[in-house]
Amino acid sequence: MAQFPLSLAEVHEAIVTCNRCPRLREYCQRIAREKRAAFRDQTYWGRPVAGFGDPDARIALIGLAPAAHGANRTGRNFTGDGPGGSGDFLMTALFANGLANQPYSRAADDGLLLHDAWIAAVVRCAPPDNTPTPGEIAACHAHLRAELDALPNLRVYVALGRIAFTAIWRLFAERGIRPRTRPIFEHGGVYRLPAAPLVVAAYHPSRQNTNTGRLTPLMLKSAFRKAVAMANATVPQR
Ligand code: SF4
Repeated sequence: MAQFPLSLAEVHEAIVTCNRCPRLREYCQRIAREKRAAFRDQTYWGRPVAGFGDPDARIALIGLAPAAHGANRTGRNFTGDGPGGSGDFLMTALFANGLANQPYSRAADDGLLLHDAWIAAVVRCAPPDNTPTPGEIAACHAHLRAELDALPNLRVYVALGRIAFTAIWRLFAERGIRPRTRPIFEHGGVYRLPAAPLVVAAYHPSRQNTNTGRLTPLMLKSAFRKAVAMANATVPQR
């Protein structure tokens, strides 16, 4: 019987060896075999992607899922989706708030270090069309819960998109923490419940959002400025 909470190393071993979702595992492996022409000489990761960052982080970012030729190739979330992609967009905002040491994320060995931040995801295998099924989201939820439970200093969760926002409230419900009214996702919104990490909501930095101007660099920087301010103003809540 496993002991809880698991260590980060145990959580990550469980993630990268997971085969619960046959559709996603087959898709990730096929993408890794077939590759995009520009990456033909590279060895794709092709496995589920664990979170990364500062194990002492007070702020957890929760994204959606790896990109087929991004994290499914590089093995690191928000990494390798090209110049100007979601990785660079996100790191620019983290860098501006002192949460990353550089404003880009291109490869697993690019020197990126996070400070006081951790990047997790709702789903750890790249889904076709960036769209996991509800069953796949449910199947992967235990990995998210275990990873966050293995980070002892978290005070703030940043939901990158509505699916992450929903996953956070599910986590809280599992801990017996329920809001009186159903929280409504709103970019820049801050949500406080007793005995729970604060939640900051932000649009996901997908190209669909950033290319259309729905999410601007200023908007994402501002959301992380709030997250840092909240982390500084609160005491640890698990
Ligand atoms: S999406 Fe999550 S639960 Fe499904 S196979 Fe990948 S790691 Fe396992």
